[in-house]
Amino acid sequence: MPTTTEFTQDTLADALSRIVRIKRVSGNEHEVIEWFKAQFGKHGLQFKHTGRNLLAWRGQGDKRLLFNTHTDTVPPNHGYTRDPWDGAREDGKVWGLGSSDAGGCLIGMFHALLSADFDESKCTLMFAPTCDEETQGEGFEHFRNEIPEFEACVTGEPTDCEVCTAERGMFKLDMRTAGKSSHAARPWQGDNAAYHAARDILKIEALYEGFEERDDLLGRTTLAVTMVNGGVARNVVPSEIDWVIDGRTIEQLDNAETIKRIKEAMSEHTKVQREKARFGVWKRDENDPLVKCACSASGKQGVSAFGGVSDAWWNDKAQGLIVGPGFPKLSHAANEYIEEKELFRGYQIYKKTAELFLET
Ligand SMILES: [Zn+2]
Repeated sequence: MPTTTEFTQDTLADALSRIVRIKRVSGNEHEVIEWFKAQFGKHGLQFKHTGRNLLAWRGQGDKRLLFNTHTDTVPPNHGYTRDPWDGAREDGKVWGLGSSDAGGCLIGMFHALLSADFDESKCTLMFAPTCDEETQGEGFEHFRNEIPEFEACVTGEPTDCEVCTAERGMFKLDMRTAGKSSHAARPWQGDNAAYHAARDILKIEALYEGFEERDDLLGRTTLAVTMVNGGVARNVVPSEIDWVIDGRTIEQLDNAETIKRIKEAMSEHTKVQREKARFGVWKRDENDPLVKCACSASGKQGVSAFGGVSDAWWNDKAQGLIVGPGFPKLSHAANEYIEEKELFRGYQIYKKTAELFLET
């Protein structure tokens, strides 16, 4: 039996405000895990606890739907003018780090678990708050193996309640451009790595602008040079420049092909030092029952793409989608907030999606 049939916006906002006040930067999720354990106990839910991950559930049926989202946040950035952890409720919003990414999803999913109406003898609704999404580590990528097999998984990320069935792949390349050092007063005796790096960096811009491959939902493969470091002193011609490329990819121009094109474009001075391509393109069929249920629950006609990467990637077998309350542009931004009415809408979508999916 659901513990209550419907929660109020006020109850949800209060609960969210409470968890925003718990510091939960990746690696430090213990306290929020304890908070959820206490809540599960209070509502008589069965649950299991491994590391910094939890799984709570209702029902004992074979048809299983999983809600998964992350408890961790990134560290606060320097742009914050508010206390990142005050959890204030002001102007119809809950403020603070992780209020939107992914606090709204955590609170929405938890209350949907408590209040969704379905046949518990035939179905099981599960909720897994997991750690380390922002950094990768010991979260859903491992904990998924401890979860009973599920037919479908809803991944919670702020999408402004858009139903997302795809996300782009991602890679990171550590680049090193080499030259030869000399005294800055005698540059002709050296070979300035900064000039070689500058030319190769501009080739990345040109390469990216020339990509013609497009995906209807995901758009295009993008490249961004995000870090450049080098030099040891003001008066020394640098012999090494280290720089980083962040790539986001579509199936038509995937990680491997993009990396190959980058390598071909570089001068002999620049080499890839380290290649990290953990996430490929993730895509689900928009005709899957789960997607239909979520679209119907949210009143959406069509599906969208999720702008970042998420733990949905680790759901490699079951039906899946990404949906959640909160504006995506506020994730990792200063003075993060979520509108209370948006939080409530997210909760209703989770609840209705579960009811529709589990009754079919
Ligand atoms: Zn997130």
